[in-house]
Amino acid sequence: MAGEPQADCLFCKIVKGEIPATVVRETATTLAFRDISPKAPTHVLVIPKAHYRDAASLATAEPTIAGDVLREAGEVAAQEGVDGSGYRIVLNTGEGAGQTVFHAHAHVLGGRGLEWPPG
Ligand code: 5GP
Ligand code: ZN
Repeated sequence: MAGEPQADCLFCKIVKGEIPATVVRETATTLAFRDISPKAPTHVLVIPKAHYRDAASLATAEPTIAGDVLREAGEVAAQEGVDGSGYRIVLNTGEGAGQTVFHAHAHVLGGRGLEWPPG
């Protein structure tokens, strides 16, 4: 069923505590944890606890939770002290855009200059 945990999903396993992660924030609907391979001084992933394959699928099925993810991305930026200098929220969607984990997640990147447009 839509939103149900998937046995073979890495981020569902992190939500269940089966795989450790450095959690920086948690709400009833979201989890924020440090990326295992950081691409910036601040690199945190914000995920919905429910499983959806990408951000748009999440927003279609659960717009309130999609909003929670965005709000939490902002809270993470503030907590990490990068809100003043600027940060980027990235929602890679599809293999061609670099999505490797098919459980919706927002990257929060900051703490260094961020080029525009991204590669
Ligand atoms: P994507 O490439 O799908 O947009 O982002 C997936 C992200 O998950 C990558 O930045 C990758 O470094 C991160 N990642 C992959 N495996 C793990 C893991 O086991 N733990 C954590 N914390 N991050 C992971
Ligand atoms: Zn999942």
